[in-house]
Amino acid sequence: MIFYDRKPSIRAHAYELLSRHLPENLPARTTLLKDASIIRAGEFGEKRVDQLLSPFASDECLIGFNLIFPFDGETIQIDHLLLTPSFALTIETKHLKGHILLDLENEQMYRHEPDGSIFTSTHPSLQTERHRKGLLQLFKKMNIDLPIYSLITFTHQNVHLEAVGTHTVLPKEICRIERLTMKLRELCESDLPPKMTPDQLLHVSQTLKTYTVNEKIYNTLERLNLSYSQLIPGVWCHQCAELSCIWTGRRFRCLVCREPNDETYQDTLFVYLTFVSDSIANKQARMMLKLARPGTARILMLRAGLEPFYKTSKRFYRMNKPFRAN
Ligand SMILES: [Zn+2]
Repeated sequence: MIFYDRKPSIRAHAYELLSRHLPENLPARTTLLKDASIIRAGEFGEKRVDQLLSPFASDECLIGFNLIFPFDGETIQIDHLLLTPSFALTIETKHLKGHILLDLENEQMYRHEPDGSIFTSTHPSLQTERHRKGLLQLFKKMNIDLPIYSLITFTHQNVHLEAVGTHTVLPKEICRIERLTMKLRELCESDLPPKMTPDQLLHVSQTLKTYTVNEKIYNTLERLNLSYSQLIPGVWCHQCAELSCIWTGRRFRCLVCREPNDETYQDTLFVYLTFVSDSIANKQARMMLKLARPGTARILMLRAGLEPFYKTSKRFYRMNKPFRAN
């Protein structure tokens, strides 16, 4: 059975929303949009793997998609997790195209870009090692002793993988998507002794679910060397694709096309609450939404479902339920 279904990435969505509030010519804006499109491409690859795995789902093979667990003060994101009575398996999906060079000694994976630059990322084997450590910690907490295996699969049809350095052979856990089902069957057919019953396994999967957390977005402004003062305030017009709405006649209306935009001010608040601070005061809300009156800002924040609270006797607002991308 599938015990945990895929939820779309809020990070890609949030990056796209943030980019609306950055000057067009800012390199950080390009970086953000590129990151967002990499995440979206990754999701495409992950869904292909979901489809391949689904036929394996049974009472003795419980599958979870895109599970995020706390680990080491940060989080680990496991693209796919299989739980069987004899073993657990994490699968990491990479949807990259082109000539990918994998350098285990230097802990890197990279690709030469046509413009002469180099795309680099952590070697996926190190990523899965971290996933395994995080999962092991959870298993310990639950008092279960299940060996954890990992596979890394490259899903893009136009990918060429090459191991460089002293190890010119790809690590065994890395394969192209075409080889994934075969690798899985090998694991399922290996005679690993069962450690638990299907009932116990179900219990494990349900407990794991309670440990999941929402995707976190870490220090994006800092990473991109951006400051809050660089954010352009305003409310987005869907029609014109710019921050061209103003509050007039009790609603946000675009100055250019005159269309009303009743929801997009929430995106502006979301950007502030995600990237600047997890709470917002009336003054900042007025500035970001370009409002004159505190009363309007207050009503709009409540309408957006923000929760008021007091901090140092001053009123702030925050998101009371975690945001999920559609
Ligand atoms: Zn417009």
